[in-house]
Amino acid sequence: MNDLAVRLDQLRGSVPPVRHNARTIAALTANPGCARRAILDAAAIDKTTVARELGFPSQFGQSQFAITRGNEFERMVKANGCAELIALLRDKLGLSIPEVALSDLSEVGDNSSTTLRYQRTRQLLARALESGEGTMFDHPMLRIDIAGAAAYLEPDVVAIQLAGQFYVVEIKSFAVIDGQADPTQVAAAARQSAVYVLALRQMVCELGGSGDDVSHNAILVCAKDFTNRPTAELVDLRKQLGVIERQLSRMTSISSLLETLPEELTFEPGEGLGEAIADLPARYAPECMSSCELAFLCREQARACGSLDVLGRGVCDQLGGIERVDLVLGLARGTVTAGPEFADIAQILRRAHALSEELAG
Ligand code: SF4
Repeated sequence: MNDLAVRLDQLRGSVPPVRHNARTIAALTANPGCARRAILDAAAIDKTTVARELGFPSQFGQSQFAITRGNEFERMVKANGCAELIALLRDKLGLSIPEVALSDLSEVGDNSSTTLRYQRTRQLLARALESGEGTMFDHPMLRIDIAGAAAYLEPDVVAIQLAGQFYVVEIKSFAVIDGQADPTQVAAAARQSAVYVLALRQMVCELGGSGDDVSHNAILVCAKDFTNRPTAELVDLRKQLGVIERQLSRMTSISSLLETLPEELTFEPGEGLGEAIADLPARYAPECMSSCELAFLCREQARACGSLDVLGRGVCDQLGGIERVDLVLGLARGTVTAGPEFADIAQILRRAHALSEELAG
């Protein structure tokens, strides 16, 4: 274990780590400037528990019903050695799959340890790269670097090698009706698949292959119409890959963030948790409400200190450099004198305020 891993373990304390998945990483990239989330995620700290302990339970995440339905659909698609999936790939996408060797990587022997499964995934991937033979991996264990710290991914997907290229297969239980699916759900599935593609590319490159060995097209398997029958489509991920790659590269390195924190800091549940969390600088934005378990806590803190962040990036950009709501109101009402750098903004705010007073009668 390197120094960074030891330090992150200390931050988590005795609580077991939570595993990342593509959903959490795609969400992480939604707010790359937030040090609070970056550190908690790097240390694999359960943010749902943190939010609950601090009195701001998370209302973010999938419902139990959606999780159960998703698991059942996946089980059905993968039954009998992925027979249904293979038939789909042949018939619907016209992919030639001469022979399939299915490797289940959800366990190695009876051992489901992350590192063992990761090593086994690497081993089988290396073999597939070398032999070029068509191979399917069920539940591979992948790894991706986030701001210099390794995060393991346990995808609910199959990675398949076809004609020398690997494809990520994402199985989702939402419906495709008359060839149309809910664009929000498709976009979320595409973002998650893109994270898997990046992680798979990272592993392939480490094994001496090239990033192009992993296709930028993912195979999205969904429920057809109102039935439980699966259907499959190829989804082009080039846009999502570009966005996620760029945002991951913009994240401040975890080591640099840790240097700013007290040595003895820990996020063990208990009395000191609130203070420990407050030590981590957050960067709340309204988008957090749909992407982070700590949203209610961070929103409350941002409101309490009068931060303009609660009004969203658009407003912050327009009021460039002014960080507090009371200052904006003071400039608008003329009770605060603007420095020369805010003179233009102050003038616009005063005009807007006068107009609203006039309209209000
Ligand atoms: S909710 Fe809080 S911790 Fe999560 S991304 Fe937003 S600001 Fe960061």
